[in-house]
This record gives sequence, structure tokens and C-alpha cells, in this order.
Amino acid sequence: MTEKESKRVLTVCPYCGTGCGLYLVVEKGRVVGIEPDGLHPVNEGELCVKGYYGYQHIDNTERLTSPLIKKDGKFVAVHWEEALDFVARQLAKIKQESGPDAIALFASARATNEENYVAQKFARAVIGTNNVDHCARL
Ligand code: SF4
Repeated sequence: MTEKESKRVLTVCPYCGTGCGLYLVVEKGRVVGIEPDGLHPVNEGELCVKGYYGYQHIDNTERLTSPLIKKDGKFVAVHWEEALDFVARQLAKIKQESGPDAIALFASARATNEENYVAQKFARAVIGTNNVDHCARL
């Protein structure tokens, strides 16, 4: 295998906010393995099981590639614009019918601190609820 066909790409694990450093082992344009970054100040060459093996979904053929909306009892692939419009209309309807505290927002450890900040801001300032939680607390 030539150098061009196999390379190691330095990146940060996307699974939690710890931010361990790792290398993607890429062969022929596909990720085939993970190696910890021994010099990274956070993990110093260690990774948890998600960091080591969490790459295997990348080429999974069952991976969702577009949003789904249930229509007539079946999930149908739609464009993002339609999905976001649907969610906005549903949130507005629930808020109008049942009040803002009928809605809760669950953020994700997979998102950045900035994205989680925006998510809680959206819940509090736009929806009007303090029902905000995060999977890392569970
Ligand atoms: S390797 Fe484990 S602890 Fe480190 S960032 Fe990834 S999920 Fe978090």
C-alpha cells in the first residue's frame, strides 16, 4: 500500500466533551481504524471504547442520510427545509395549545459547548421554558 493510499489523520474524538486526541487510520479513502494520540494533553495515549471503536458507523449503509417525517404511519425522507419547518410549526402549536413548559429540550454531549449554549438559549429565550437537560448528566 502506498503512502497516498494509507494515512493517519489527527483529529479530536467527537463522542463527548472530554476531547481526546486520536488519529483516524485512513486507507483508500476509508477510515479503517483508530490510534490514540500519545502526545495529546487530555488523553495521553488512552481512549475509551467509544473512542477506539465508534468510527465503524461511518460506512454503515443503514445510516440516516436525510431527515424523516412520519406520513400516513410511515417514515418518509424529506429535505431539511421541510423537516425544520415541520418542527417549528409543531413547537409553535404545542406552545400555543399547552404552554411553553409542555416542551423540553435535551442537548447532546456530541455537540460542542457553543452548540449546547445555543440550544439552551433557544429553549429559554425562544420557547420560554427552563426545561433543559443534557445527556451527560444522566
Ligand atoms: S475517547 Fe471516550 S472519553 Fe475520550 S472524547 Fe472520546 S468518548 Fe470521550
